[in-house]
Amino acid sequence: MTSQTILSVENIEVVYNKTIQVLRGLSLSVGRGQVVTLLGSNGAGKSTTLKAISGLLELEDGAVTSGAIDFDGRKVAEDTPHGLVRRGLFHVMEGRRIFEDLTVEENLTAATYAQTGRGTRPPSFDLVYGYFPRLYERRHGRAGYLSGGEQQMLAIGRALIAQPKLILLDEPSLGLSPLLVEEIFTIIARINRETGVSMLLVEQNAAVAFAIAHYGYIMESGKIVLDGPTERLVNDQDVREFYLGMS
Ligand code: ATP
Repeated sequence: MTSQTILSVENIEVVYNKTIQVLRGLSLSVGRGQVVTLLGSNGAGKSTTLKAISGLLELEDGAVTSGAIDFDGRKVAEDTPHGLVRRGLFHVMEGRRIFEDLTVEENLTAATYAQTGRGTRPPSFDLVYGYFPRLYERRHGRAGYLSGGEQQMLAIGRALIAQPKLILLDEPSLGLSPLLVEEIFTIIARINRETGVSMLLVEQNAAVAFAIAHYGYIMESGKIVLDGPTERLVNDQDVREFYLGMS
């Protein structure tokens, strides 16, 4: 792992309930400042990979049984999931895990507590509201009443509040209209460009992922079967056929 690498996953195996093996020697890395996408069909193990990195696997009775994961120069196994958030790793889980009963602003405040571990109010939410003006308009509204797209914006906004070095994004396009997907992905690309935060993006929608990623990995049945710079992957015959629906 070089200093230019923020995340390195080496040859990991993951097992659920001590019996079901889901990852079978998976390796990938994310360079500092890069957007890297991880693609694969349903059940390939994409979400499991993100949970292994952020330490959330244990909540589901899963375990990394071999291999190593380094984040920003240290093994993730040495930290708790909260410790990892404080070190700059934020996992935006599939299904927009927000607090529905709290207002938009209270959701952002809660993300600050996760970061500092203390009850200090953040200096401002301007960064988040700058990227997502719609959240500003609805800042006093209950998060549960936001549209699906706005909830996804809030989930990403919560990550930004934590000022992370690496964001793990699990299917931000899920359940959104094509127009909203385009809007959100344009903002994700801007966030990467302007703040320099690295991203590992899991997606089913390969076309939008390739539009913003620098590098891509394709996984099947628990391991990587193809990887390369995005420009190369989009010209690969199999990728075009199976993931982009082109011939
Ligand atoms: P999807 O796009 O459908 O979310 P994925 O590539 O993200 O798929 P995972 O959610 O990582 O795939 O699941 C990979 C495999 O692990 C699946 O066969 C799934 O049934 C299994 N799995 C996931 N979570 C658990 C769990 N908590 N306990 C047991 N098996 C699990």
